[in-house]
Amino acid sequence: MDLTLAKSQGYLKHQLPQSKSSSQRKLLAVIGVYIGFGSYLKRNTFRGSWMPREIIGCYAQTELGHGSNVQRLETTATFDPQTDEFVIHSPTLTSRKWWPGGLGKVSTHAVVYARLRTDGQDYGVHGFILQLRSLDDHSPLPGMTVGDIGMKFGSGAYNSMDNGLLRFDHVRIPRNQMLMQFVL
Ligand SMILES: Cc1cc2nc3c(=O)[nH]c(=O)nc-3n(C[C@H](O)[C@H](O)[C@H](O)COP(=O)(O)OP(=O)(O)OC[C@H]3O[C@@H](n4cnc5c(N)ncnc54)[C@H](O)[C@@H]3O)c2cc1C
Repeated sequence: MDLTLAKSQGYLKHQLPQSKSSSQRKLLAVIGVYIGFGSYLKRNTFRGSWMPREIIGCYAQTELGHGSNVQRLETTATFDPQTDEFVIHSPTLTSRKWWPGGLGKVSTHAVVYARLRTDGQDYGVHGFILQLRSLDDHSPLPGMTVGDIGMKFGSGAYNSMDNGLLRFDHVRIPRNQMLMQFVL
């Protein structure tokens, strides 16, 4: 989203009225993450798509086995120097993304947190942007298992959100879809 346009739509800090829905807040968060951390060229490419709402984003960090303990996340992003791509994979049951709001039914893209691996070394958890669903018919892209986690316990308030699950089976993405602004 163009920042001037975002401002005029009330998407900037202190301008968002209380009545705005949580999905609008979520979109703002994803835009913020992307504009803040994406590589320069890639974030400009994506910016053009924010406004027509072709892209609906979610934030996919939490896994079935890992919440507050972000350093234990298990999803892997293994760099393949032959093709200049990352291979995103969910190696275990506990590595499946679990909880992200907007993932279950709505989102077409996600900021995904995964362990960066290259040359046999683990460089810790980093963010990557992935397309999850087709922009034509909204079906999951190859290698993605996406779904809604269903009813939640509690007051029922959480049930208004399509919290989702996500599994990757060796999904390949170009290297510049890593959020690499601060990576040397
Ligand atoms: C409605 C809802 C929406 C969500 N949306 C998203 C989303 O969009 N994207 C996403 O990635 N995730 C999302 N989450 C997941 C959320 O971020 C996690 O629930 C959160 O990170 C906590 O992890 P956990 O539930 O596994 O709890 P745990 O990490 O298992 O924590 C359980 C308890 O232990 C405490 N605890 C944990 N570690 C420590 C420690 N080191 N020291 C002391 N106490 C500790 C916690 O405070 C808590 O009381 C959502 C969750 C909910 C409920």
